[in-house]
Amino acid sequence: MVSLRRSIYKSPAQLRSMVEPGLITAAALEAVRALIAPGVTTEELDAEASRVITARGARSNFQLVRGYRHTICASVNEQVVHGIPSSRALEPGDIVSIDAGAEYRGWNGDSAFTVVVPDASRPDIVAEREELSRVTEGSLWAGIASLASAGHLAEVGVAIQSFIDDAGHGYGILRDYVGHGIGRKMHESPSVFNYRVADPGPEVRPGLAVAIEPMVVIGDQRTRVEDDGWTVSTVDGTAGSHWEHSVAVHDDGIWVLTAPDGGKAGLAPFGVTPVPVV
Ligand code: MG
Ligand code: MG
Repeated sequence: MVSLRRSIYKSPAQLRSMVEPGLITAAALEAVRALIAPGVTTEELDAEASRVITARGARSNFQLVRGYRHTICASVNEQVVHGIPSSRALEPGDIVSIDAGAEYRGWNGDSAFTVVVPDASRPDIVAEREELSRVTEGSLWAGIASLASAGHLAEVGVAIQSFIDDAGHGYGILRDYVGHGIGRKMHESPSVFNYRVADPGPEVRPGLAVAIEPMVVIGDQRTRVEDDGWTVSTVDGTAGSHWEHSVAVHDDGIWVLTAPDGGKAGLAPFGVTPVPVV
């Protein structure tokens, strides 16, 4: 039997084509991160990401999503993902998740980070939110690290959920939003779950390229979409965090395409050394 579905596995040359869009995505997010401070609007952050992506000869792949006109998603406090940039000014103590992606020569990157705006007057809130972000980021790296030895993709979700559960805070993991394959399109098959699922999913083997993106909240995992039709917020109003990287599995190992160091620092605690895509 010949399958007419396009394989989810990329050739070595195709994976190489994903290196530059990954690095452009990383550069855009780093530029945004450097601007985050009280008084800065999420529209200004959007403009900075757009500037960096355009300057590198790439284009925003978020603007290729039907109905979406912005370069980033900026989700603040109880917003977990898909927040729309606006004239909203960041305030001390806000927890902010920024998600962005670049398309370069027909290939895509997709990545997100979370940061807490400093607030000396509310150390308890800041500490609680920084811990949420730290644990969410840790769960992302646990999920990425699992790819180095996983037989099937569902092991990523096991690693993420185990990391969250082991932190012992009772955090919720969003169930209605998941990671995805990435390549010619930003969103491709297969889904990458952030929690345990019964289906083992596809084989993890060279050629797999996925965006892993745990979305984690302090309280209950239930969310609602706000009236703008995009923004995903917690029902109980507790804060959310979102971290994401695009990762390639190749013949010699794994490489985090949207990390300038390929994931060396993030993977070190898990005993995994990334190997460049060459
Ligand atoms: Mg993303
Ligand atoms: Mg994504």
